[in-house]
Amino acid sequence: MKKPIAGFSTLSKSEKIEWIATNYTQNPVQSKKILETYWNADSKLQQLHDEFIENTISNFYMPMGIAPNFLINDRLYAIPMAIEESSVVAAASKAAKFWGSRGGFKTEVLGTEKVGQVHFIFKGSYSKLESFFTKIKSTLISDAKHLTESMEKRGGGISQIELRDKSSDLQDYYQLHCTFETQDAMGANFINSCLEQFAATLKNEALNYSSFSEQEKQIEVVMSILSNYVPNCLIKAEVSCPIDQLNISKEISPKDFAEKMVRAVEIAKVEPYRAVTHNKGIMNGIDAVVLATGNDFRAIEAGAHAYAAKNGTYSSLTHAKIEGDIFHFWIEIPLALGTVGGLTKLHPLVKLNLEILQKPSAKDLMQIVAVAGLAQNFAAVSSLVTTGIQKGHMKMHLMNILNQHAATEQEKATLIEYFKTHTVTHRGVLNALENLRK
Ligand code: NDP
Repeated sequence: MKKPIAGFSTLSKSEKIEWIATNYTQNPVQSKKILETYWNADSKLQQLHDEFIENTISNFYMPMGIAPNFLINDRLYAIPMAIEESSVVAAASKAAKFWGSRGGFKTEVLGTEKVGQVHFIFKGSYSKLESFFTKIKSTLISDAKHLTESMEKRGGGISQIELRDKSSDLQDYYQLHCTFETQDAMGANFINSCLEQFAATLKNEALNYSSFSEQEKQIEVVMSILSNYVPNCLIKAEVSCPIDQLNISKEISPKDFAEKMVRAVEIAKVEPYRAVTHNKGIMNGIDAVVLATGNDFRAIEAGAHAYAAKNGTYSSLTHAKIEGDIFHFWIEIPLALGTVGGLTKLHPLVKLNLEILQKPSAKDLMQIVAVAGLAQNFAAVSSLVTTGIQKGHMKMHLMNILNQHAATEQEKATLIEYFKTHTVTHRGVLNALENLRK
């Protein structure tokens, strides 16, 4: 039986490895070797990665690819993508090429507002709480001056602090609902620091507010934290072209294709089972760029899915319509991204990727990321409504199966040729490989 360990975090890296390999793997020598294989030979670089998180024992590689030829607002980009799933980079590149010769992608930043909340319990009269809030609002802002001064110099800072009565949802529950502009930062640390300061001011001022009863003076701050739901940190990215330019394949007319695309998006709008997968495809593109640029993909995921459900039913993040003879396809998605802060100036590959993206501001990055999501969705939905998804997918999957079974370069070349005219299935690939090896 396994036993819990006390003080794991205080062990050295090699002691941690020894412990995990011995206690949780069947071949400790082999396990240690695998972990070490993924260490970087440059010890300083390895130490940098070790210190990103806690209890580090190795690095977990993710392939990084490039999707070139993205024409965004008449500027050409090559987009770095970090993702483990085959087909995503290929699909993005294909969509970029297709739209590059049809005017490219157009984008518009609809807002950059970030949100944070102080959640508190107040037992007393709401009208007194309102008067108290009006009185202390300027103190909330002035007490946070030491935190906001440099952000204000950049044109950002606190935008608004609102008192919200949530007591009909939960007894005695109120909020300071706060909005911020964080310029080129995602803003988590800035916002959380401001909120903790607001909470301290709120509690102190309540203790000294003479109109409050003794009970009302005891405001209980439950927590102070940014929200990853940022419906006003919003970006729209769009493609459009005359329908007759939608000559996607010989098998389908441009008009039929346009109509099928619109129909497919309509289905994703009304059918949550489809919408989730539809949006998952969008997030294939989005997460890959978010990760490659050192941003927080969990934050982006949470915010995007909440936005997809903003009307009460989970729905598509992309939209499509035919207007006259023009086909329009667009995405609207909240993206709180940073090009400073977090890992952005620490991780050498992130720095390189931001250079490849021509040193974007946070707003530029919102546009690039939204376009990657839109391109991905265009490629996925156009496959679905024409050839089906498996044709392209299994071709890419072929490589993974061959690698899993240690195919040599010669075997790969032979089988890639063979499967140009045969259907890829897992069993089919294994049989072909076995036959080749006989
Ligand atoms: P940092 O705190 O690392 O960096 C942001 C700071 O950089 C700003 O507050 C500002 O500080 C400074 N800065 C320098 N130049 C600029 C500029 N041009 N525009 C804006 N700020 C600038 O990062 P973030 O606060 O953005 O936080 C991001 C990290 O927080 C991510 O790694 C994320 O994973 C993590 N996180 C996420 C949470 C969530 O999403 N729920 C919760 C907690 C953490 P100054 O004004 O003092 O110079």
